Amino acid sequence: MINRVEELKEAALSAAAAAGDEAALEDVRVAYLGRKGRLTEVLSNLGGVPAAERPAIGQAGNRAKQEIGAAIAERAGFLSDSRLEALAETEAIDITFPAPPLRRGHAHVLSQVRRQLEVIFERIGYSVEEGPEIETDWYNFEALNLPKGHASRDVQDSFFLDPGEETVLRTHTSNVQIRGMERIGQPPIYIVAPGRVYRRENLDATHLAGFMQLEGLAVDQGLTVGDLKGTLLYLVQSLFGPQRQVRMRPHHFGYTEPSFEFDTICGRCLGKGCRSCGQEGWLETGGCGMVHPQVLRNGGIDPERYTGYAWGFGIERIAMLEYDVEDLRLFYENDLRFNRQF
Ligand SMILES: [Zn+2]
Repeated sequence: MINRVEELKEAALSAAAAAGDEAALEDVRVAYLGRKGRLTEVLSNLGGVPAAERPAIGQAGNRAKQEIGAAIAERAGFLSDSRLEALAETEAIDITFPAPPLRRGHAHVLSQVRRQLEVIFERIGYSVEEGPEIETDWYNFEALNLPKGHASRDVQDSFFLDPGEETVLRTHTSNVQIRGMERIGQPPIYIVAPGRVYRRENLDATHLAGFMQLEGLAVDQGLTVGDLKGTLLYLVQSLFGPQRQVRMRPHHFGYTEPSFEFDTICGRCLGKGCRSCGQEGWLETGGCGMVHPQVLRNGGIDPERYTGYAWGFGIERIAMLEYDVEDLRLFYENDLRFNRQF
């Protein structure tokens, strides 16, 4: 019986020494020391062995288990080391290999367009002026020649913040006209005022309750409608290219006289009419006009000495024209598949 134990031990030791990898070594452990392993089996069947011999066999069996366990552990260490050495040989990191590209964030398309517009006007001497989004009735309406009860107020359905309707979320960036004149003082005044505005609109593909505008104001000696049109032409051609023309249509705003809406010629058909411009040939872009004398007076400027012109448009509108986006809401849904295109 002892011989049988010794035989199994020798067989296990040579099998362990011959195991080529960690899986083969595990097979050896299971085959000899596992619950149904050969050595385990022999040692658990000592029924036919005379009682006097059992302790000796038990001791021999335990020694054999220890030796086999130690041999397996040693072999495992060796196999693990050589596996790592082999890895180091074959899979060394090549530090000259290009890294996978990093996906970096970037400014939202509306921020890009806003900045683009600011730069276009800064290039011809305009400075960027900021104004508050929570505004008094005076700066948002009254000083702009829109007294209480004026028809233009109904058009601009407003979010008032108090029952007396003295404080309002500004309905346009035109509040910066008066604030700009007050801050700068006497002309020349050449400013653009980008920012958020708020209106009670029913939301659809072309209307939002909160959006961005860019206001422009020039006040100087001898400014005319020709200067206004030249400025708008410069804007449109800077944005969309030299073949794009501007047209002005008479309109009415309380704070400009005369007032116009201005259109950009369609980039697809150059005025002939196509599906993208609804056969019009022109795309609505914004509103503009010569600053009303009363508005100059409200800003502390003498309308006998100076004239001014102003314009305003939606920054989203420009982004839609620039990138052929058909639904305004896409700019605010923050779907990364949309945002990443710009
Ligand atoms: Zn067209």
